[in-house]
Amino acid sequence: MRRGIKLPTRAPSGAAEKMVPPKQVVLLLRQEVGRSCKPVVKVGDAVKAGQQIADGAESGAADLHASISGEVKAFTEVLLSDGTEEKAIVIEGDGGGGVQPATKISKPLSAEPAELLERIRQAGIICASREAKSLCAVIDEAMSPRGYLNPTGEAIAKPIRHIAVRFCDTDPLVCSLRAVAGQIGKNTTALKLGIDALLKITSAEEVHFALDKTQELAAVEKLADENDIAVHRFDACQYPSFSDPLIAAAVLGKEPEVAYKRIHESGVLVLDIDTVLETAAALKSGTPVTHKTIAAVSSTGIKAVTAPIGTSLEAIAEIAAQGLSPDKVILGGPMQGMAHFTLDFPMSKSTTALTLLRREDHTKAQNDPCICCGLCSEVCPTRLTPGMLSRLCEFKEFAQAEEAHLFSCIECGCCAYVCPAGRSMVQFMVQGKSERLAARRSD
Ligand code: SF4
Ligand code: SF4
Repeated sequence: MRRGIKLPTRAPSGAAEKMVPPKQVVLLLRQEVGRSCKPVVKVGDAVKAGQQIADGAESGAADLHASISGEVKAFTEVLLSDGTEEKAIVIEGDGGGGVQPATKISKPLSAEPAELLERIRQAGIICASREAKSLCAVIDEAMSPRGYLNPTGEAIAKPIRHIAVRFCDTDPLVCSLRAVAGQIGKNTTALKLGIDALLKITSAEEVHFALDKTQELAAVEKLADENDIAVHRFDACQYPSFSDPLIAAAVLGKEPEVAYKRIHESGVLVLDIDTVLETAAALKSGTPVTHKTIAAVSSTGIKAVTAPIGTSLEAIAEIAAQGLSPDKVILGGPMQGMAHFTLDFPMSKSTTALTLLRREDHTKAQNDPCICCGLCSEVCPTRLTPGMLSRLCEFKEFAQAEEAHLFSCIECGCCAYVCPAGRSMVQFMVQGKSERLAARRSD
């Protein structure tokens, strides 16, 4: 059976363009799902890039740092896509390059795992994915899984045994991880340090690299060869081959049994290459996360851009749009991104891409009746019957949809992409999942 969809082109390789520091950044105090930081600066304070401006110790959130040097101008509220508001710190840049000095740590791996984990939290590392979580939270859940039980009460979820590093983005046309991987060059010291630290923290036994079949990373392959690291080659044109569940399936040699949002409880922890390098920087020199490489995608071109966290999407759109006037703004890539209502919004640590579409680039959902053509089942990478599942959710038969493995849907959008009836299948299934989760919470 064919899995996923075949794309005509893959995202370009190439170095990321470094953005000139903007005049102002807006840093959300909640960069990760469910946890916020508390400000440790006040209006009028001068800050340097890399200086801590909010502390997450109390809630277990990753700390937040200034991404440019300047002055704390205000505290503000930012309207999010879900209609809620979130507090943020506004920094006005001074145009200088003031950077908080790094502290060189001579033997970073001599610390105990708990101390290494705390340094990762202090460095503010977030795993950029649709449901942003801090690296600490992800590791914590992966080491002590609380996932589903099978009918005999035995835990299906397993503590982490494998770490898989992803070198290529899942979403088509998104080129940020490719750009970060390309920057490694011949020196793999940081990559090795990041991996060794993660092995020490998690007690995982094996490491795997997930590369596109066209990626030429000689030094990375040499490192893999010398350290008994398995290299898995996927085809980035066969979307969504770089998604967590498909990488975990390749590592395990079978499909993971846990729901896709808890795939880190399958025994395989899939981490992006930038997260591993951020881990190394945090442990080697206490360097926090201040910048992110994201993809700027539009019909006029695709570029990787490295920008300070908190940069306005408007500034990134100027690079992405190149003269195009967008009709639709997507936070993320074209398949898995979420539509957003404005460009007047700050880039966060979990932003992977900004996709801009003209009216002629996208089609409106028609939601015609399903004609039972079966195309959606043919492409579903998790072998579901999306036509039936989406109809169960549309008609509010949520419990029945759950029994039909609704939570195995990875929200890749392949079914909607091929559906001749133009049905909003992913939206129906996402709503179904939230209804079931809400019902469980109220039980
Ligand atoms: S049902 Fe879910 S996993 Fe299957 S193709 Fe549709 S969105 Fe992807
Ligand atoms: S592709 Fe669309 S029309 Fe065909 S079976 Fe699936 S939901 Fe129905």
